[in-house]
Order: sequence, then structure tokens, then C-alpha cells
Amino acid sequence: MTDNGKNGVLYVVATPIGNLEDISQRAITVLGKVSLIAAEDTRHSRKLLNHYGIAARLQALHEHNERDISKRLLRKLADGHDIALISDAGTPLISDPGFVLVRAARQAGIRVIPVPGPSALIAALSVSGLPTDSFHFEGFLPAKAAARRERLSGLQYANTTLVFYESSHRIVDSLADMAACLGGERNATLARELTKTFETVHDGTLAELGDWIQADSNQQKGEFVVVVQGAVTDPAALDAAARHTLEVLLAELPLRQAAALAAKISGVAKNRLYEYGLGLKQGR
Ligand code: SAM
Repeated sequence: MTDNGKNGVLYVVATPIGNLEDISQRAITVLGKVSLIAAEDTRHSRKLLNHYGIAARLQALHEHNERDISKRLLRKLADGHDIALISDAGTPLISDPGFVLVRAARQAGIRVIPVPGPSALIAALSVSGLPTDSFHFEGFLPAKAAARRERLSGLQYANTTLVFYESSHRIVDSLADMAACLGGERNATLARELTKTFETVHDGTLAELGDWIQADSNQQKGEFVVVVQGAVTDPAALDAAARHTLEVLLAELPLRQAAALAAKISGVAKNRLYEYGLGLKQGR
């Protein structure tokens, strides 16, 4: 549906994830001019808005009332009022409420304008030192251990960087489960309290990070993003890559040596590669 020109605009506005200087000039302008700001926790947001000298009307919009409030906000938008959506921190809809409202607004042909800014996921990814060309954002893992492990096991062959949100209550258990389900040898980065006083960005394998955080209760406090190296490749592709490696090496080296080297490079068992190489030599 297209906008009829009479509707108001819904602005989706990012706010800081800690450091209050991390807000854009445009965000301040937009928040200062809209008729209403929909916020997850109005008391929390009132403090933020006071800091920037913005006296706006606030409407609570959280996961428990999002459906009802969205209908009310759509009527206001249809009456020509501009509304901004913010969350407690970072970018709305990123592990935060707002999806119901944004979808309904778009379906109703209302213009939805992003006012981009901080998000913990992008901040963590950008300093992790892990590949950023392709990544999977998982958000929060399930709170219950069995469901969490099932979700993690479903990700074990994903060969893109994985990004998780986690709270202080579960960071120790989640890191232990990540090591168990994804492999303790995987490289990872723990980004804690980004842009705040106790900001910590710490690298290690998943096993090392688990030990490190367990040994220091101070490191268990605050908000976390865990960025994890993707699987080297999925099993089917691993075979193709390993086969290719062996074929290249076989052109230069005796079979036993080529198989041993290809095994080291690919992680595939040496005897499987030897068997395959033997087959090639015998024209199988
Ligand atoms: N919408 C937010 C965003 O764009 O990042 C995320 C909201 S989600 C409810 C809150 C989670 O984001 C926290 O539990 C933590 O995993 C992550 N997070 C938020 N702020 C953070 C910070 N300053 N440092 C590290 N992680 C943070």
C-alpha cells in the first residue's frame, strides 16, 4: 500500500546502548518534534529524554500490550500525527518490541522512517575481529537448558559468524552450552557493557572464555554480546574442499604425505583422504 499523504509518519529511532553521547543529532530533532513517543519503559525513557531536554508525550509499548497499543497508534498515525518508536536501548525491534507496530503501519500504507544509530550486535561484531561479511544474529537463546542446547545444536554447521545476546543471569551457562554444542575450540569474543564504564572485550576459544568468566564474578555482571566463529564448513562442503586439497597436493607429493597434509588442512580424517587418494591413483 502507498502513503496517501495525509497520514503521519512512524519514525523508528535508535537510542544509546550505554554512553549517552551515542545519539544522532537527527534522533534528537525527531524525538523533539513528534506528537508522541512510544517507548518500552516510559520511566526509563523519560530520564533519557530529560537528558536531551526533550519534553514529549510518552506511551508505553511493550511485549504485553503491543497488539492493543499498535491499533491505537495506527489510528493516531491515520489522523496525521507523527510518532516515534524507541526502546530501552539501541535499535527498536532488535530483540526489542516494535515488530507488530511496524508491520501494521507498513501494511496500512503509513511511511516508516528509520533513524539509525547504536545496536549492541553491530558494535560487538565491529570489534570482534571475526568475519563480518556474513553473520547470523540469533538474539537471546532460550532460558531453559534443554531448549538452549537444541537451538545451539541446530547451529553447529552454520559457517557464518554467530552473534548472541545474553544477560548476566545466564552468561556462564550459555557459554558452557556453546562450548559443548558448537565445540570448545571455536574462537569467540565476549563483549560486555559496551560503551559503558566497565566495557570489556575479551577473546578466546569458547572453552577459554567459559573458564575465564567462571573464575571472575565481576566479569559475570552486566550485558553481553557473544560473537562466535562459524563452523569451518558444513560436512558436505568439507568433503569437497578436502578432496580438492588432496588433489592439488597429490600432484606434488606421494599419497601418504599428501593425505597427511590434507588432513591437517581440512580436519578430515587422514585414512579417509588416503582411501580417496588411493582410488584416484587406481582410476576408481
Ligand atoms: N535493541 C538493543 C540493540 O539494538 O542492541 C538490544 C535490546 S536487548 C533487550 C538487550 C540485550 O542487548 C542485552 O541483554 C545484551 O545482550 C545486549 N546489549 C545491550 N546493550 C549492551 C551493551 N552496552 N553491551 C553489551 N551488550 C548489550
